[in-house]
Amino acid sequence: MVRSTAARYKTDVTRPRPAVALDGPAGAGKSTVARLTARALGFTLVDTGALYRTVALAAQRAGIPWSNTEGVASQARRLAEGALQMRPNPEGAVCVLLDGEDVSSQIRTPEMSFGASQVSSIPEVRAALLAMQRGAASEGGVVLEGRDIGTVVLPDAEAKFFVTASPEVRARRRHEELLARGFPSSFEQTLAEVLQRDEADSNRSVSPLRAAEDAELVDTSAMTIEEVVARIVQRVRQITGAR
Ligand code: C5P
Repeated sequence: MVRSTAARYKTDVTRPRPAVALDGPAGAGKSTVARLTARALGFTLVDTGALYRTVALAAQRAGIPWSNTEGVASQARRLAEGALQMRPNPEGAVCVLLDGEDVSSQIRTPEMSFGASQVSSIPEVRAALLAMQRGAASEGGVVLEGRDIGTVVLPDAEAKFFVTASPEVRARRRHEELLARGFPSSFEQTLAEVLQRDEADSNRSVSPLRAAEDAELVDTSAMTIEEVVARIVQRVRQITGAR
């Protein structure tokens, strides 16, 4: 279901092409939707969760515990200064390079999901990654996927969507994805982790997970990925055509 809230799209932005903000909790199908939406529109995908995941990995590799805020923040600044690069891969997903090494699969483990959630609550980490994210969107023609894109990173994004699904549906999808990728997984454990991450992401003091006032809510619980993508693409085209 797509619920159109008071969709107040800004018309005073100067990007030649629109920027699309796609936010929502883990497991809502957001990553797949973002990738397919970017492909359908011919836009660049920016997976901002990958940035936080790479900060967690870089800290771990440097022997810095995720609770060491200053140590983790200095890693985030190092990454923002060029140690982290993102490239689209042939499937349209994002390939992440840390110090020149492709770490795309190393950052996708359950451990790094947890690490990303930890380091993302450090204000200095968020600040270090902010300019990078805004820079990536400055020319438009991008889909930025994350938690705070519509609220903090790009409050002036032309199109904002908040993609969500019930916790049970999200846990079921995550569980199946982990099994498909060869990770041991139990549904109960995955549901507990989904709820724990929701709680942490929604209640942190900096940039908590919440829908922007002018975002459209997209509940994917009973929708196929294709339906969600078609809806979002149609909406973005409407907005682009109206400019
Ligand atoms: O989207 P993904 O699951 O890769 O994000 C990993 C973690 O990074 C999230 O649980 C969240 O804590 C953090 N994150 C964030 N802000 C973003 C994107 C991700 O805080 N824009």
